[in-house]
Amino acid sequence: MTASEHDFRQPLDRAHAAALDWLRSLESRPVPFSATADDILAELPATVQQGPLDPTAVVDELVRVVEPGLMAIPSGRFFGWVMGGSLPAALASDWLVSAWDQNTGLRFATPAMAAIEEAAGRWLLDLLALPATADVGFTTGATMANFVGIVAGRDRVLQRQGWSVAADGLAGAPRVAVLTGAEVHFSVELALRNAGLGAPMRIAVDAEGRMRPDALAAALAEVEGPAIVCLQAGNIHSGAFDPMTECIAAAREHGAWVHVDGAFGLWAAASPALRDHVAGLELADSWATDAHKTLNVPYDCGIAVVADTAALRAAFGGRTSYLIQLDDAPSDPFERVPELSRRARGVPVFAALRQLGRSGVVALVDRLASTARALAEQIGALPGVEVLNEVVFTQVCLAFGDDDRTQRVTRALIADGAVWMSGSRWQDRDILRISVSNWSTDVDDVATAVAAVRRAMAAADAAPAASVAP
Ligand SMILES: *Cc1c(COP(=O)(O)O)cnc(C)c1O
Repeated sequence: MTASEHDFRQPLDRAHAAALDWLRSLESRPVPFSATADDILAELPATVQQGPLDPTAVVDELVRVVEPGLMAIPSGRFFGWVMGGSLPAALASDWLVSAWDQNTGLRFATPAMAAIEEAAGRWLLDLLALPATADVGFTTGATMANFVGIVAGRDRVLQRQGWSVAADGLAGAPRVAVLTGAEVHFSVELALRNAGLGAPMRIAVDAEGRMRPDALAAALAEVEGPAIVCLQAGNIHSGAFDPMTECIAAAREHGAWVHVDGAFGLWAAASPALRDHVAGLELADSWATDAHKTLNVPYDCGIAVVADTAALRAAFGGRTSYLIQLDDAPSDPFERVPELSRRARGVPVFAALRQLGRSGVVALVDRLASTARALAEQIGALPGVEVLNEVVFTQVCLAFGDDDRTQRVTRALIADGAVWMSGSRWQDRDILRISVSNWSTDVDDVATAVAAVRRAMAAADAAPAASVAP
């Protein structure tokens, strides 16, 4: 069978048309899905059918079956978790990445992808004011970017004790103490667990969830042996930033490796108006961020940055006889991430940065933050609404009286469907949480959101709790 253009044109044309239909529908469709995963599974055969199907029919069926189960995450009215949409150049270039089908592990084998990713990496370091000589790796997300920084740090702090993880594994190694804020993101805990480091020591935080440098210094004083300190730039509830300069100074006293989880908050460094929140950030050893959040590229794309390039390449790199590696070149893409074979996920980052330019990145980050402030002010002005956090970045935590009423308002808001905001629990209270992460969220979306919250409050008060449940 030859893969002639003819074989691709029809399925790609259908996919193109369906993608445009979907993107157009985001303007007005309800944000929530109307079918559950089990509903969708019920539409599908239990086992794969016996013979082949026409590729175009496969695309058509897929488009039809998934439609009721799609959440309008790329819509400007989606404020759930911390997600984000896709900039047009990022989405279009992501399609090309699939069409080009380049296995982006080796500089020699896929030079174009390696070059685009290296350029994007350099631009990122510049925009975020991180050390220009650091290595940049493109991972699936911040969880894996956290893993990359933590593993590089683990190996380096153990190597300083004369222990090689590469040669001898972790069993019998000196215990590496890991210190995080009490409001560390679950993904850092996952990365630590999978790096064989166990559960972290949780350091006391202030009312906004920021690590207290005095508590960190006191905890480190008790630690004997190697240590890793994981700081947070952007708390998923308050949006707050750990005080970088003070915490990093405390870590340095102890000789600890400092990793920063900045999945969405690292981007504050790109904005002159917000950069003070992360002052001292560049003094850390490794950083994790996502491009699929604040930068608005399609899933999946995280970014790992490690200043100690030798530690990173020792952890993830290597030489083999069958991979062709250029001796005089910078490290190969695979030496900076946990994967050997992977898509060129740095290409949409390149395209997003190219579409936005420096001023566009600053404007995007500033707009997300100012939209969060506008939502906090306008929803906070409604009777009986409390804004629980200092709105310093993209996150707003709301309460509507006691936990029971907050839950009822949250359920009514989801049932209303005009916007999506997530329920959560923060500092011993049930909350409704807003994250402004989508490049396309505008003043109309803010007005829609305020009206939806007002309706949800009325619905929650009109109906007994049970009848509002979805
Ligand atoms: C989203 C997030 C993560 C995890 O990122 P993924 O891209 O989902 O792997 C980690 N830390 C913080 C602060 C986050 O917001």
